[in-house]
Amino acid sequence: MQLTYEMVSGVHLVDCLFGGVPRQGGAFLVRAERNVLVDTGPTVSFERLLGALDALGVDTIDFLLLTHFHLDHAGATAMLLERYPGARVMVDGRSAGYMVDPERLVKSAARALGDLARHYGTMPPVPESSMVALSDGLVIDLGDRALEAVYSPGHSNGHYAFLERATGNLFCGDALGHYIEVEDYVYPATPPPEFDPEVSIATAGMLGELDPQLLLLPHFGSVDRPREVIERFVGQVRRSLALAGELKGPDRTPAVLAGRLIEDMPDIRPEESALITGIQEVNAAGVLHYLAQKGGQT
Ligand SMILES: [Zn+2]
Repeated sequence: MQLTYEMVSGVHLVDCLFGGVPRQGGAFLVRAERNVLVDTGPTVSFERLLGALDALGVDTIDFLLLTHFHLDHAGATAMLLERYPGARVMVDGRSAGYMVDPERLVKSAARALGDLARHYGTMPPVPESSMVALSDGLVIDLGDRALEAVYSPGHSNGHYAFLERATGNLFCGDALGHYIEVEDYVYPATPPPEFDPEVSIATAGMLGELDPQLLLLPHFGSVDRPREVIERFVGQVRRSLALAGELKGPDRTPAVLAGRLIEDMPDIRPEESALITGIQEVNAAGVLHYLAQKGGQT
């Protein structure tokens, strides 16, 4: 089975077989004088990731750039540090605080994820001395390449994307949702408790203004028509809110909203169905959580 895809020169997407399904979640390797992983994938796919890196002939990783602290993106950080002890972990500063002592983070994920939690694994504590706080505009020098950190909240508060200005490659994390390449379909990732649609839409617009040439999405693949997909993403965030707004009384539940979100989707492959249903239930819970919080404030 193919587990690595070279998306563009020196940029490989390693398929973590997220949820046991191909092309659902992965981590990016950027080959340069100083090699980079953008995200680590979850603990449950750590051996698979290492196998893929070995098969690609990677002997050092200099930077682990984390788009955000969710377990499917940052869970395997400490395990990778054991294998590549010289690597610097670059992550949002507040998120770094949680990752040193991740018990709260793992508990919160278990609450939000329900049955899906087993696919997300856990997070062994990350040594504070390995972590460097990101800031918007920070340039990470890879020798013959460079990546710029772009603060991009909405999906989660401490979310960063990474832009390679020389090429227009944009590693967008979860800021622009999930993308199903074969269907050319984008759908937002809106989990509780931090998803904020207004912030998410503002971030999407800002990312478009950076004029990226290629979107690189860990869930899953690449898009060479960024503006169009960003516009569709924004439409989908609004659609999720509108669908939630239609649900009243006993129908206003994550399960019912997830059903509506799934009805909107193109045909999903049978092997993806359980995973995507679970993901959409988490997304639905995030939208309803946001609306309940907002309702509570007014
Ligand atoms: Zn996430």
